[in-house]
Amino acid sequence: MNDDKFKLSEVLQAFIFTCKDIVYELKNLRKTNENIKSKEINLATSGIVNCPKCGAPFEDNLSKCSYCGYVSIERDKMLERLRAAERGVDSQIKQEQNQLKKLLMIPLFIAIPLLVGLCCFVLIELIGFILLTCGPLIM
Ligand SMILES: [Zn+2]
Repeated sequence: MNDDKFKLSEVLQAFIFTCKDIVYELKNLRKTNENIKSKEINLATSGIVNCPKCGAPFEDNLSKCSYCGYVSIERDKMLERLRAAERGVDSQIKQEQNQLKKLLMIPLFIAIPLLVGLCCFVLIELIGFILLTCGPLIM
């Protein structure tokens, strides 16, 4: 009996640690995502800010001048690299979230049958008790 309890606590600990790891990883990924976004803002404020052809300022996240239509290849490459990094982090975040969801489903699947079983047991015991104590009185 003690052995079983020990194993259960070990399993529970491992489960909690895995959940914590995933949550930690998610936090890191969100931070990385924010860093990428701030880099994007930095790119818009430094580097290639104005159109080399007409001098008008580029709009955020755009490599094409909205006034004369000039496309800055350098700016385009930088933005594309940032977008690719962002996409990578986004898909990683989704993966981690799915993993966490699956993990959290496990105790639910274990707890529900256990609870139903316990309810049935209690109900049967109660009926048995009532029959035993009140049965002779009714009959
Ligand atoms: Zn321009």
